[in-house]
Amino acid sequence: MTARTHDAFAFASFVTAAVLFPPQKITLLTLGVSIIANNIGGLFPDLDQASNRLWDLLPGDHAMGNALRKLFLAHRTITHSALGLGIVWFVGTQWLSKMFNPAYIDGTVVFWSFFVGILSHMIADSLTKEGLPLLFPIPWKFGIPPIKALRVTTGSWVENFVVLPGVGIYLLWFIWIHQVEILFLFRTIRL
Ligand SMILES: [Zn+2]
Repeated sequence: MTARTHDAFAFASFVTAAVLFPPQKITLLTLGVSIIANNIGGLFPDLDQASNRLWDLLPGDHAMGNALRKLFLAHRTITHSALGLGIVWFVGTQWLSKMFNPAYIDGTVVFWSFFVGILSHMIADSLTKEGLPLLFPIPWKFGIPPIKALRVTTGSWVENFVVLPGVGIYLLWFIWIHQVEILFLFRTIRL
């Protein structure tokens, strides 16, 4: 899937997770950082591609991205697997969630926003013809639906005119049927 589709999947997953697992209370700063963390999480598994937008944030055009990308074996391997998820979960719960001053930012909420972004990326990629190497290093690829021919080609018209608007329609529908919960969530925001 393209970065734009991953952005949409990540945000839709963020809103869904916020309604299904609402935080007790949340600061405005936590909410802002969580939205950014979710967006980064949505692109994170594609760090194994030099063209990833996240690499563009580093200095030196694509040079640094090209160099760092060599750390990864190939596109769609460990960063798209259960093993990769486990490593991120371990590092995140041990370190990332404790990185912030709890008086201002709830690191646990930030970490889970990031993690939900990664999960949304993997779900989106599982809809594509390439499939997902969930059990890496075992080279089996998984996809939804299991029949490859029925899955989406990255960058195709199906992605742009069916999948992407589909995510938008889902988000509007989800917000519509959860208006009460969403209004309640906004009321839990503190400075
Ligand atoms: Zn990917």
